[in-house]
Amino acid sequence: VNKVLAQSFVDGPGNRAVVFLQGCNLRCLFCHNPQTLALCNACGVCVDQCPQGALCLSDGQIHWDAERCEECDTCVKVCPNFSTPRTRCMTAQQLWDEIEPLSAFLSGVTVSGGEPAQQMEFLVAFLSIVKQSSDLSTFIETNGFASAEDLHRLLPVLDGAMIDLPVMDPEVHRGLTGQDNALVLQTIRFLAGYGKAYAVRVTVVPGYNDTVENAAATARFIAQLDPHIRLRFLRFRAHGTRGEAEEWQSPSDELMDQLVEAARAEGLLNVSRSI
Ligand code: SF4
Ligand code: SF4
Repeated sequence: VNKVLAQSFVDGPGNRAVVFLQGCNLRCLFCHNPQTLALCNACGVCVDQCPQGALCLSDGQIHWDAERCEECDTCVKVCPNFSTPRTRCMTAQQLWDEIEPLSAFLSGVTVSGGEPAQQMEFLVAFLSIVKQSSDLSTFIETNGFASAEDLHRLLPVLDGAMIDLPVMDPEVHRGLTGQDNALVLQTIRFLAGYGKAYAVRVTVVPGYNDTVENAAATARFIAQLDPHIRLRFLRFRAHGTRGEAEEWQSPSDELMDQLVEAARAEGLLNVSRSI
């Protein structure tokens, strides 16, 4: 577990606790959380860099002292592996025990990442406990790279998913994320068939997918599945990114509005954009 956020209003309906799991199977150029991409391989590079002495390497594992840590992010910046030593190894029950005291103030729980489907055993176990122990709704934020078999296992304990679909063109998708989008489209079709595709999200990246043609094509794809599925355009921001994306500009308000209009023109009923 990378992090638990006690309260969020932007990760699904209502007020939600959000669990960020470590590890992702894509390498999106626009990722603003690159420290969640890989699992720590205990290389030890970060240990001597920590100004608080909060890290040590023993028995081939990195150990993080949360009490000493002052969240300066030095360890994340020096990690050559797109990882972080600040993760916790927890059982599904331990995770629920941490969230359960908050549940009276929550609408639900969202599991994000990284890519939550990378830890499917844990994800199913955790959401099963949430369902058995509360009436909170259960959502995931996913890049859609999950097998049909895994999605079938998840269905009984999942209320909804927010799925990232940056671009309809498979080769542009490959350039932006490292993989083509065939499996993402399949996952959206699958979840829509069970009424669990809550939203599709497009991070608008200049030069890759910032066109009304892509907005319209995305909207057409969703509308023929279910015009009530939400489509949300997220403005790319360089904050938190690494590599070439650090220099990229954010798309303008005018362009974001044009994308929304182009998508609405295809018959989608719930189209929005971030500020
Ligand atoms: S964020 Fe990392 S480097 Fe900074 S104090 Fe915490 S463990 Fe140490
Ligand atoms: S967090 Fe990164 S730098 Fe630190 S031990 Fe793990 S892989 Fe190495």
